[in-house]
Amino acid sequence: MKKCKSCKQEKEFADFHSDHRNRDGYRGVCKDCNLKKAQIWRDKNREKVREFGRSEEHKSYLREYRKNHKKERADEAKGYRQKHGDKVRASRRDYYEKNKEQLKAYRANYIKQNPWFNRAASARHRAMMLERTPVWVDYEALKFVYKNCPEDKVVDHIVSLRGKTVSGLHVPWNLQYLTFEENSKKSNKLILKNEAD
Ligand SMILES: [Zn+2]
Repeated sequence: MKKCKSCKQEKEFADFHSDHRNRDGYRGVCKDCNLKKAQIWRDKNREKVREFGRSEEHKSYLREYRKNHKKERADEAKGYRQKHGDKVRASRRDYYEKNKEQLKAYRANYIKQNPWFNRAASARHRAMMLERTPVWVDYEALKFVYKNCPEDKVVDHIVSLRGKTVSGLHVPWNLQYLTFEENSKKSNKLILKNEAD
């Protein structure tokens, strides 16, 4: 039996962690007390760590760090990609192969939930083929138009990408929403919808 230095209780040796630095080979504090102490220490410090993480000081430090190290961070990532390009590609391919079915299902589900995505992609592809996409086009703005198309309408190019006399560009301000009827009537004629209808 051994008396714990902390709780002063007489306990079996098995209730103490071994410690070869002590003459009897066991710690002065019993396992229960040791656990309690560790728990208290962790709780105290967890709060400290949490507080520090939430502090403006820490947040602004992180912001500053990211801002000041933008280039290094980008270079680092780029360097890594260059150095490990084959590895990265291989691991991506590997990931794709392993998760093919899941990824396909995920994509199919995404398109089902967001049908505009396919329409935006095929319009983009068509404009590319017809060379009607200026290099400076804002793809996010284009996507926005397709994403926000009302359900009963279609996205139309005001000036057709393949007009008889003039050809329009695949740019946000050459897009408008038409009903299916308006769109089928339009064919290659120029219809300008005004805001009133
Ligand atoms: Zn104890």
